[in-house]
Amino acid sequence: MKDTPKKASILIGPAGSGGKGHLKGLDEAARLKLDCMEIEFTYGVRMKPEMAETVGARAHELGLILSVHAPYYINLASYEDAKIEASRQRILDSCHRAHLMGARNVVFHAGFYQKRTSRETYRLIRREILDLQDHIRKTGWQVALCPEITGKPSQFGSTEELLELMQDTGCGITVDFAHLYARNQGVIDYDAVMPLLPESFHAHFSGIEYTAKGEKKHIRTRPGHFRPLLEALIRHGKQVTLINESPKPFEDAVMMKAMVKQPQQP
Ligand SMILES: [Zn+2]
Repeated sequence: MKDTPKKASILIGPAGSGGKGHLKGLDEAARLKLDCMEIEFTYGVRMKPEMAETVGARAHELGLILSVHAPYYINLASYEDAKIEASRQRILDSCHRAHLMGARNVVFHAGFYQKRTSRETYRLIRREILDLQDHIRKTGWQVALCPEITGKPSQFGSTEELLELMQDTGCGITVDFAHLYARNQGVIDYDAVMPLLPESFHAHFSGIEYTAKGEKKHIRTRPGHFRPLLEALIRHGKQVTLINESPKPFEDAVMMKAMVKQPQQP
């Protein structure tokens, strides 16, 4: 008997509020009939707990799914204990605000190899993730740590490393397909990647510029970038929240959402 693939569910939204502020950003996302939004703590978790509750209530009212991106300055494999401790605190603060706003997925770039091997870095990061999860369990926060596939080979976070981390610790994963594209120098065999990924996961997408060293910058998303991904998600029956990280995340999310509704159109 052949398994019928599950029906895919592809929910689309922007990364951040496009400078409008969280509440106005949510209103705009709802007006544009998007499904989700990622709250970006790019340079630090400065959102007060009360604001997190207000943002969560507004998203709930508008029927939008929230996720959180922890600050960029995170290295769970640093040589300096103080930097590991600061990284842990940034992740935990992000988790706390995520819990208050009813956001489940907390995205972060886990760390850098520096002079260590992939294995050594992996072990350090796994230990920190297990410890963070322990803390999350004790506090009762309803969140999932979702380390992200990163765009540079010098950064911890290949697909293989993150899938292993997921297996070992039960954490989630953020699959940034643009990063994957940059890491692979412009090729993705979606039919090879999809079967490795869970049925349901959090994801990022946009256009991307890259060099031999991987990701250079996120750029506008063209329909031709998204189509192969969209078709593969449908073919493999995946359930994803897909956040657009282009310089115009609302506009590009709207374009992607239109394609999800009409996947056959040119
Ligand atoms: Zn990303």
